[in-house]
Amino acid sequence: MKKKRRLNKYGIILVSLIAVLGIALVCSLGYLGVRLLTSKPVEQSERIEKETKKEKTSTLTKAEKEYAQSHPDLSDEEVKKQVAMNLDHDPYTHMEPVEDLDSILQLVNKYYYLPSDYEPSDMISVPSSGENGDVVMREEAAEAFIELVDASAQEGFILNACSSYRSYDYQDQLYSNGVLNYGEEYADAYWTRPGSSEHQTGLSVDVRMDNDLSDLDAVRNHPKYEWLLENMHEYGFILRYPDDKEEYTLIAPESWHLRYVGKDAALEIYENNWCLEEYIYYKNLT
Ligand SMILES: [Zn+2]
Repeated sequence: MKKKRRLNKYGIILVSLIAVLGIALVCSLGYLGVRLLTSKPVEQSERIEKETKKEKTSTLTKAEKEYAQSHPDLSDEEVKKQVAMNLDHDPYTHMEPVEDLDSILQLVNKYYYLPSDYEPSDMISVPSSGENGDVVMREEAAEAFIELVDASAQEGFILNACSSYRSYDYQDQLYSNGVLNYGEEYADAYWTRPGSSEHQTGLSVDVRMDNDLSDLDAVRNHPKYEWLLENMHEYGFILRYPDDKEEYTLIAPESWHLRYVGKDAALEIYENNWCLEEYIYYKNLT
């Protein structure tokens, strides 16, 4: 009996000891867990966020800071992007000449212009809708367009060109007539000024589908238009003025205006849902 009682006593002490140790262990683990799960990462992410913000703010140039002040809703990253695209200047007030006239990636817009005497030397005819006579494009673009036309025929519809290369003088006529008849503001909304028209590159093409010669925007309603949008990058073409990129292109959406940029760039632009201005910016090409 005596031995058993002593054993019981030791037993109770041992159990109590284990219980105390257990509670202490649970408490420490719990405390550590809470520290790990809550306070520490929050402190850490706040610190990283503050540091990143500071770093970004401190790297804004004078022009970017000014642009950020007049566009308080934009992130610093967006400010840098838009200033790099010259969007802190009004259209046509900050013009730079296109440097590489041979490049199929040349950017021609309201900030980059082609010389008045520039005419590509290697243009050939492409299948046309006939409404504007013979339509010519730069050879590489023309060959790619012909492949796209053939692929379209396989899909069961006729694709052809309404207009492609336009000379500086012709663009000058279009724009000047617009100004004369409707005023500068209206003309600027509907025609690009000479030198700033992508049609002078011989790399872009306005298309028709199944010879619907009504409004150019009619292609948008063609049952195979979606196919065209999803597949033309395989032939090196992009939609140059998409619906959601006017803030960068400064051109109202043009469902019919394709631009040849080559297969690699076209794929990257398609996959990232960029416009050409964004591609040039992200690839650091200017
Ligand atoms: Zn066009």
